[in-house]
Amino acid sequence: MLPEASSLWLLRLLRDIQLAQFYRPILEELNVTRPEHFDFVKPEDLDGIGMGRPAQRRLAEALKRHRSGLKSKNWVYKILGGLAPEQKETTPPSDGPLLSLPEPEGGLKCLIPDGAVRRGELLGSGCFGVVHRGLWTLPSGQSVPVAVKSLRVGPEGPVGTELGDFLREVSIMMNLEHPHVLRLHGLVLGQPLQMVMELAPLGSLHTRLAAPAPTPPLPVALLCLFLRQLAGAMAYLGARGLVHRDLATRNLLLATPRTIKVADFGLVRPLRGARGRYVMGGPRPIPYAWCAPESLRQGAFSSASDVWMFGVTLWEMFSGGEEPWAGVPPYLILQRLEKDRARLPRPPLCPRALYALALRCWAPHPADRPSFAHLEGLLQEAWPPEAHCVRDVTEPGALRMETGDPITVIEGSASSHSPDSPTWRGQNGRTLKVGSFPASAVTLADSGGPPATRPVHRVSPAQGEQHHGSTDGDRGKAKLRDLPLARAPRRNVPLQRAKVISKSLESVLSLGPRPTGGGSSPPELRHARAVTRGPPGLPSRLPFVSSPSQPSQPRRERPPWPRREPPHSHPQGAPGASKAAVPSGGLPPDPELQRRIMEVGLSVHGVTHQECQAALRTTGGDVASAIRNLKVDQLFHLSSRSRADCRRILEHYQWDLSAASRYVLARP
Ligand code: AMP
Repeated sequence: MLPEASSLWLLRLLRDIQLAQFYRPILEELNVTRPEHFDFVKPEDLDGIGMGRPAQRRLAEALKRHRSGLKSKNWVYKILGGLAPEQKETTPPSDGPLLSLPEPEGGLKCLIPDGAVRRGELLGSGCFGVVHRGLWTLPSGQSVPVAVKSLRVGPEGPVGTELGDFLREVSIMMNLEHPHVLRLHGLVLGQPLQMVMELAPLGSLHTRLAAPAPTPPLPVALLCLFLRQLAGAMAYLGARGLVHRDLATRNLLLATPRTIKVADFGLVRPLRGARGRYVMGGPRPIPYAWCAPESLRQGAFSSASDVWMFGVTLWEMFSGGEEPWAGVPPYLILQRLEKDRARLPRPPLCPRALYALALRCWAPHPADRPSFAHLEGLLQEAWPPEAHCVRDVTEPGALRMETGDPITVIEGSASSHSPDSPTWRGQNGRTLKVGSFPASAVTLADSGGPPATRPVHRVSPAQGEQHHGSTDGDRGKAKLRDLPLARAPRRNVPLQRAKVISKSLESVLSLGPRPTGGGSSPPELRHARAVTRGPPGLPSRLPFVSSPSQPSQPRRERPPWPRREPPHSHPQGAPGASKAAVPSGGLPPDPELQRRIMEVGLSVHGVTHQECQAALRTTGGDVASAIRNLKVDQLFHLSSRSRADCRRILEHYQWDLSAASRYVLARP
């Protein structure tokens, strides 16, 4: 016999906790047809139908969840507004799907019944929860591979602003349709709430870029193609009056080896006003190292600030997924950008014309940056020329190539193809190796072909560097020598490890454990180098506004292990701190010191080698105190509280920085 529609909820609830055998007895003997009827059911009644006490406890738990689910469902409808009315729940004739399902290719985003989606392997973890691979079964029986993002739910329901952000992401994605924007199929109004999205089976671009050898680097020409796809998708978002605010390679997903999709719309906001800006209304995490100066200073976002982020994303692509401004504390990034007029340096793989384009994206004044629509054209012009090898090159030190190999020219161009500049740099499309080669060994592909093969290179090899200093247009003066800071080698820490450490500041912003999974970017990357306080609350906390508690003054040099100091006196990220690694007199680095630095670094998210060193120096080499001081610093920079408060909070949470961060974030 089919279950009655009105009691279907009961069957589903019991099935979820493997107690479906009690459906009939509960319905017929106890006359329970609505959740609130359970208020009148006593344990003895359940004993009477043969339900044991452990099962009763399971039932009580499930009922609690069910009721809070009903509540949050109402929130859902309220927040989503427009979504609900179109998607009326119909009473199903049987225990089939609760809602009628449009085919995914029909273009209509829909509510999807819980039972129609099966979750599989974990793909990654983001701000709101985890993402699993899934299989969505359509009413026709056809199965569609999907990605399922589930809202993280604490014991008392969704945490803080997460539900609102999650639903905002849904409502924004619902209205988007572009070949390079990740598609939302629908929403599962279950516990937890789930977004069912197009699957990008190859994971995030960042993971691919940072993949260690023997995975080959991506071809330069392919990176250019990705940039064009990205510019197109961003032009589309801009035209719809949206600002993404979190453009980074971690948020670009690979749908196929040659197709990226813009994803993660959690920070997307509609642009308002004549100036087409969104100004943050309160302190929220932002991806600091990717942000334009006006976003860092005033919390102002616009299509022009997305263009700035596009430039940083370009830089990431050509630097193999390196972290921008690695080693620069987040609170100093604005100072580096504005006061020092520093810019990220050209990655060796980046053709100069493209780097010149990135510099235009990093113009200090938003109005001086190109629009995305304009960028699409500029990218065509900056496309590196394609050539073909006309003779084998085997000279020592030269890029090896065989006749017929496709070569992407990174440096050197038609204009410099002369005896005066006989050596070019390029990437062999067959081996993907990069190096210099005699210009005479290649012939440029015909001009007038598709963009990827057109030898247009309007910027001379030196021009990129000239722009480099001119970040302020005509107003700017170069300070190039400062630039390599962002790529300073991080010694004594294995590269991969160093990456995780330096990129993991955001993990203290996470609201729960962050499992990693195949095909996903490391969770540490999510909103890497973000700060919790958006600019409205920020300036007073940041050291570029001089404050007695912050290291705006160069600190005194100290010998490596002087004496123990009161922990609160430790300033972080102080200029000159790095000098302590090698004691004066040029002695070799002390292995014990290095070991301790490593130990501290591994224990505190988001700290640099130099900061660990400085912390150890302050505590006379005491690792435990250094770790605690650094955690206090991290929490201090994350919140508007005093260091003493931060210390108390950390003590309360037994020095669990994530837990303490969650606490301060929830109570700004
Ligand atoms: P998010 O919460 O959107 O930042 O996603 C967290 C991680 O899950 C991403 O970094 C990806 O690695 C993975 N992921 C998210 N969405 C998808 C998808 N549609 N297909 C494949 N992987 C995804």
